[in-house]
Amino acid sequence: MGKHRVTFIPGDGIGYEISDATKRVLEATGVEFEWETVQAGADVIAEYGTPLPQAVLDSIRKNKIAIKGPITTPIGTGFRSVNVALRKELNLYVCLRPCKTYPGVPSRYNNIDLVIVRENTEDLYAGIEYQKGAPETKELIDFVRRTNKQHLGGDCGISLKPISVSATEKIVRYAFEYALKNGRRKVTAVHKANILKFSDGLFLETARAVAKSYPQIEFEDKIVDNTCMQLVQNPGQFDVLVLPNLYGDIISDLCAGLIGGLGVAPGANIGYNCALFEPTHGSAPKYKGQNKANPMAQILSGVLMLRHIGETDAADRLEKALALVIKEGKSVTYDLKADRNDPTAAGTSQVADAIIGKL
Ligand code: NAD
Repeated sequence: MGKHRVTFIPGDGIGYEISDATKRVLEATGVEFEWETVQAGADVIAEYGTPLPQAVLDSIRKNKIAIKGPITTPIGTGFRSVNVALRKELNLYVCLRPCKTYPGVPSRYNNIDLVIVRENTEDLYAGIEYQKGAPETKELIDFVRRTNKQHLGGDCGISLKPISVSATEKIVRYAFEYALKNGRRKVTAVHKANILKFSDGLFLETARAVAKSYPQIEFEDKIVDNTCMQLVQNPGQFDVLVLPNLYGDIISDLCAGLIGGLGVAPGANIGYNCALFEPTHGSAPKYKGQNKANPMAQILSGVLMLRHIGETDAADRLEKALALVIKEGKSVTYDLKADRNDPTAAGTSQVADAIIGKL
């Protein structure tokens, strides 16, 4: 295969360190990349007046493949999340997050192997919000009083939760197709349809209808609170989980907790035209610049990218090398040590070196 042109977004916080480690490891597989580096996030606002410069979107649209470090969403600056904006702008409607235990990871569980398929464009993430006291909010409160007979106080802020048949069909279909292609046996749709009849209710109704086209895959649905409890008590019963955006976000971190933490939880945002690979975790600002954060979630996102671009052999070799480093337990960061204060914990770049040494 020829060179792969890939948009490279280092991110901020620990993003720089883990992205550098990831790039080195990906190059060491022998796969040839031509990186187009672009910056987004808090650090570019002064220069571009926005945390998401047009050049970033243009580059991803052109190259169709991107790998990205985490980006901080500052609270209270007026700027919305770059991560959410990228998914919406590029219509990356799937957030795919495989959660798998690698032997040697300190965790209460072993043999976890489940896949989260999170809807990525709507739900409470749609960004349709009404600020307390704003004139539109007052209008909306009036509208609710007229149409719903509910009296909301003037001190309310309101966030809307749109769920559509079309987006749900797309995400549930993706979950079943993924199950078919990857030898998975069951899809579980997660919701709160008992309470949210017109949003989650629609999600469930649509999921049930899509499931009828896939009789070879078992289908079930579960209420989100029960799902949390069941995931903790008996995670082995799950295989592929398909969820609306917000539950998908929360359950992703819960499942990261089952497999040893955010340091080993990768992710992919996938659309019809482009795909963007990034870990589940955020920018962990407290570890910025300390060569301390675990680069494995980002490197495993790179493994997902290699598979996506057809570099299956390199993906297998890289995943195996990473698994060996975890199993040996020597060159791993603090979060993969039995004692998180273990002074022998490796730094971010040493983890990359160790993985490269096993390739
Ligand atoms: P976080 O995921 O950054 O951190 C949560 C916890 O996990 C912290 O204790 C952190 O130190 C630890 N952690 C995370 N990644 C780690 C790694 N690679 N190695 C070792 N430990 C790791 O979540 P947060 O603190 O809630 O968020 C920080 C910022 O990141 C916020 O601004 C948030 O909006 C943003 N964020 C971005 C993304 C993204 O870029 N896609 C995702 C989630 C959060």
